[in-house]
Amino acid sequence: MPTPSSLNGFYASSVAINTDKKWIVAIIAGDILVSSSSNYKGPVIDSDCTDLLKFFCERRITLGQWHGRDCEVWELLPEAATTEGFTLVELRALLMAADDEDFSLACRAVQLLDWQDKHRFCGSCGELNAVSDSEHALACEACKISNYPRISPCIIVLVTRGDQCLLARNPSWPANRFSALAGFLEAGETAEQALHREVFEEVGVEINNIRYFGSQSWPYPGQLMLGFIADAVTDEITIDGVEIAEADWFRYDNLPGIIAPPTIMSGRLLQQYIDEARLAFG
Ligand SMILES: [Zn+2]
Repeated sequence: MPTPSSLNGFYASSVAINTDKKWIVAIIAGDILVSSSSNYKGPVIDSDCTDLLKFFCERRITLGQWHGRDCEVWELLPEAATTEGFTLVELRALLMAADDEDFSLACRAVQLLDWQDKHRFCGSCGELNAVSDSEHALACEACKISNYPRISPCIIVLVTRGDQCLLARNPSWPANRFSALAGFLEAGETAEQALHREVFEEVGVEINNIRYFGSQSWPYPGQLMLGFIADAVTDEITIDGVEIAEADWFRYDNLPGIIAPPTIMSGRLLQQYIDEARLAFG
């Protein structure tokens, strides 16, 4: 099946194309089982290496295709964690180091399992939902309602002021760990409205000149992070004291000790800003 080359091999679909060999993403209670015998430390296992794992498989869902082969997530029993040649890795640790396609596959695998777990019953009549054979849907026969994987959009924004950017610390984070501001969209709100509201609520700053940067799936659970860079119109910071424990302006070449890696959206926004600021102010 031809797929756009710009997708770099990742093709999200609920339909298998029945390839001889498959790729498997193996999950045990939300953690990812990865091969410990190869240099590749991503989430994908060749189906040639899964003979031992299939005895522990409780559920499989088609994820689509990865580099032309069908790809499935397998949910395994906890006993599979000690299988020789494999190591169990926390999802968050894997995401921090993963490339784009591995990141997408791991997010999709975890999200689909989580979605099925949390939608076993019809929200309208309370009867058991049935898993559709033809698409990723959970259907209630009595109500004729199909439920599809739920994706929750959220925004993350790096607010900048010339050679400085605004970073904040969540109360639960260690000292010196800072990030761009983020929050969920309210029902009925546009992404732009959410940006103005979240930044003002969290740090009391007004913004303009909002530039869309990119998006990233984030499986805690089913979030879609929409990344932006914006200019500050006001610069006095008033933290809300609830979601934000500390916030400040930081010069692009003097950022705090712990910031996100470039694999995740917060880190990507910062890298983009640093590159632009070096050209403008370096
Ligand atoms: Zn129902």
